[in-house]
Amino acid sequence: MCVEAAVAAADHALQVFGWRGYSKHYPMERYLRDARLFTIGGGTVEVLRDIVGKSVLNMPDSAL
Ligand SMILES: Cc1cc2nc3c(=O)[nH]c(=O)nc-3n(C[C@H](O)[C@H](O)[C@H](O)COP(=O)(O)OP(=O)(O)OC[C@H]3O[C@@H](n4cnc5c(N)ncnc54)[C@H](O)[C@@H]3O)c2cc1C
Repeated sequence: MCVEAAVAAADHALQVFGWRGYSKHYPMERYLRDARLFTIGGGTVEVLRDIVGKSVLNMPDSAL
């Protein structure tokens, strides 16, 4: 899912910035937390993937 790509990109960026990326004194750590939020809020990626999978396979919501 695209949000997982955003988390990976923000995580790599944090690593590039070293301690500055991790520190709350710079905005980088906030970018990672903001990206991470979208793997949980509004439906977790696991549940959304489940919904997409059932839709693609034409399965009812109650399946599995
Ligand atoms: C910063 C933030 C802001 C939020 N704002 C709002 C808001 O404004 N309004 C609102 O209504 N909610 C809000 N939420 C709550 C958010 O929608 C819920 O956290 C989210 O729906 C997941 O519910 P849960 O935390 O109870 O996790 P759970 O449902 O308990 O899930 C826990 C874990 O189990 C997994 N899991 C659960 N069921 C399945 C399944 N069937 N198959 C596979 N894996 C499963 C999940 O993917 C997750 O990894 C917010 C959350 C955050 C972090």
